[in-house]
Amino acid sequence: MTATYHTSVLAAMMQATQHGSNDVAIRYLSVDSRRMAFPAETLFVAIDTAQRSGHSFIPDAYLQGVRVFLCHHLPEKTMEDAVYLQVPDTLKALQQLAAAHRRQFHCPVIGITGSNGKTIVKEWLYEVLHHDVQIARSPKSYNSQIGVPLSVWLMQAGTQLAIIEAGISQRGEMQALQSIIQPSVGIFTMLGDAHAEGFASVQEKLQEKWRLFQNCTAIICNTDDAAVAALAKKFKGQLLNWGYHDGVWLQLLEIKKEPSFATVDFQYEAAYHLLRFPFADDASIMNAMHVVCYMLYARYSWEIIQQRIAQLRPLDMRMQWKKGIRHCNLLNDSYSNDFTSLVQAIELLFQPSRNEQRSIVLSDLSVGNDNLANYQQLLQLLQTKAIHRLITVGPVWQQALQQSGTPSFTVHTFMQTSELLAALPQLHFEREDILIKGGRQFALEKVAQQLEAQQHQTVLEIHLPAVQHNLQFYKKHVQPGVKIMAMVKASGYGSGDAEIARALQFSRVDYLAVAYPDEGVALRQAGIHLPIMVLNTDPASFDVMEQYNLEPEVYSFELLQALQAWCEQRGIQSWPVHIKVDTGMHRLGFAVEDVPMLLQLLQQQQVLQVRSVFTHLVASEDVAADAFTQEQIRLFSNACSLLSAGLGYSFIQHCANTAAILRHPTAHFDMVRLGVGLYGGTPGLQPVMKLYTTVAQVKKVAAGETVGYGRKAVLQRPSVIATVRIGYADGYPRQLGNGVGSMWLHGQTAPVVGNVCMDMTMLDVTDLPPVQPGDLVEVFGDHISIQDVAGWCHTITYEIMTGISQRVKRVYVEAE
Ligand SMILES: *Cc1c(COP(=O)(O)O)cnc(C)c1O
Repeated sequence: MTATYHTSVLAAMMQATQHGSNDVAIRYLSVDSRRMAFPAETLFVAIDTAQRSGHSFIPDAYLQGVRVFLCHHLPEKTMEDAVYLQVPDTLKALQQLAAAHRRQFHCPVIGITGSNGKTIVKEWLYEVLHHDVQIARSPKSYNSQIGVPLSVWLMQAGTQLAIIEAGISQRGEMQALQSIIQPSVGIFTMLGDAHAEGFASVQEKLQEKWRLFQNCTAIICNTDDAAVAALAKKFKGQLLNWGYHDGVWLQLLEIKKEPSFATVDFQYEAAYHLLRFPFADDASIMNAMHVVCYMLYARYSWEIIQQRIAQLRPLDMRMQWKKGIRHCNLLNDSYSNDFTSLVQAIELLFQPSRNEQRSIVLSDLSVGNDNLANYQQLLQLLQTKAIHRLITVGPVWQQALQQSGTPSFTVHTFMQTSELLAALPQLHFEREDILIKGGRQFALEKVAQQLEAQQHQTVLEIHLPAVQHNLQFYKKHVQPGVKIMAMVKASGYGSGDAEIARALQFSRVDYLAVAYPDEGVALRQAGIHLPIMVLNTDPASFDVMEQYNLEPEVYSFELLQALQAWCEQRGIQSWPVHIKVDTGMHRLGFAVEDVPMLLQLLQQQQVLQVRSVFTHLVASEDVAADAFTQEQIRLFSNACSLLSAGLGYSFIQHCANTAAILRHPTAHFDMVRLGVGLYGGTPGLQPVMKLYTTVAQVKKVAAGETVGYGRKAVLQRPSVIATVRIGYADGYPRQLGNGVGSMWLHGQTAPVVGNVCMDMTMLDVTDLPPVQPGDLVEVFGDHISIQDVAGWCHTITYEIMTGISQRVKRVYVEAE
């Protein structure tokens, strides 16, 4: 069971000043008021970061039932039945609390660090060890200054092993993590060649990471890397190193790679051994080596090691919202089903609504969690949530449900996944958010496949954490009081429906802007309540704009008069409008010369209220146009002065788009309009959109033959041609045919051969390792940037992003 601490004990553990005398038993911690499963037993930790003020969420957390708060200052209005634990630094106090909690355990604790592979090594260790010991592990990739304390908190009375990741981005951070985790065994995954942002050198970064191991009794690492070897040599404890060179603890002799597996020869304690790994890529092999080392260290036999390693699969750790059939949304994690990860997934399901109805499909919990108390606790949790129905698979759930009272929602129970699959048509899912979560042996991914909307295997991944990252990047470049308007026109530059707006609303941007009223309506229907400016309106849409509280851009006298007349007729007062001044774009807007006349008309009416005045820069990215840009800014500033003097009230002034935020600080005024930068469409930002497709067929074609329509590609050599499932109807431009474009698969680029077809494209994969139908292909993403693709077509990233057609399935990645 989870450990319980009373308020007075918590106060003592953190040397906090306690305000309020209510005695509450706390089992859970939360730093995010959206993610609380058991608010009444949760300590809400208010942490202010550059992104958001945790303190401002205290009232919200209270409304949800939280009664104990860790804070730096008291909220304006304190509640009588609440307890506030006040400390000088809430993050430090949280870390101190976790460290004190950790000190109560004497079981082994594995601390994992390194540049890549931390999460996968942790999950794989869990996978191979959880049959034998009760394990506490970091959820997802909670490895930061905040994530680590929350992870360590999951150690509980029955815990026999903890596996905790530690990630750092700056000097000095590892000391804090080390003192929280206090690992007994260290794993260093790999150094990686990523440049050492936040560090003077890669060497310094390595030394900082290595601090995690200062009190370990054993370290697992690959000493083929000379820098790692140098540090490992100084280690006084048990060095469990592996590599090709002599004198290591576990020596690699040879790796033989086949298309879908690899066989690895070892020498260990003067004997030869062989293991078969169920994958052949270097990263997976390397990650699995750390797992093998730990199993050997924990005295598993080679036979058991082979059995369990054979079960490993590359994991898709990310929680993703996918479009389902009949307007459903799916959140699918059919890889693991333990108590902690399930509670987290349920919290994710209950973030601001997509659909009103929510259904949950659950298998029995993974081994080691089959105590009925866990099931009862889950049922209690579900009772407090607005669940529409619960669908369970497995005998333990059936038993648990028989013993509990009648729940407030519909329940369907199945003994096996095959029975559920057969019953799917009768369950008729429609307009529901569906969480699917199951242990691997239940293969609930088959259920997910049935419920997914489009089976066409090309997906556009939208990485929501990257949106947050890019937003923060630009926020740092404007003065604190300057507002941010996020441009989400054209479905968020092609990214899809309301998910981006939802993420932006959570990060508290000030305004949204869309191109047409329909786009604004769709956002309102998805529960977006931020103010929304509509760039392009016409009288036919006034009705719907008023109904959905959308704010029009006013760009001409005709529009102004029509809007005014419409409002007067209906007795509408103070409708907020946004005045567009044309300072050089010559698209929409009042000419600078017309501003005095505009002022007169605005002064003569009461129905419209100028919320903002703005202009659009035409070439803010271009050094050669800087004089022109300065002139635009000057004209705009004059127009604003005139209007504000004449109107006698203030309004928001804005003119900077993405490029101007960085290049023209004098253009920031009161608000900036962030567009393409948000989506990672400019260099140096995190890519938000990643487009993937799959191979449909592979064939050998003789020299002299041609490929595709019009016989454009004549093969100069015997070739291997892979046909992939994307074409110009998906938004893959036809200009990319005949070697102009390339895609990425099996770690290499493969050029397009022949013309791009409507639904398919052919790649020359002759020089690649064997390609097979079903293989994943990156069209753009981590290896081929959207800038590359735009460059090949001689266009801008905007056009590529917004051109991805609606038939391409959008997948929203919530967490990396
Ligand atoms: C699209 C748009 C922007 C955003 O431009 P980016 O270059 O993508 O930052 C700003 N203002 C207006 C009026 C726009 O139409």
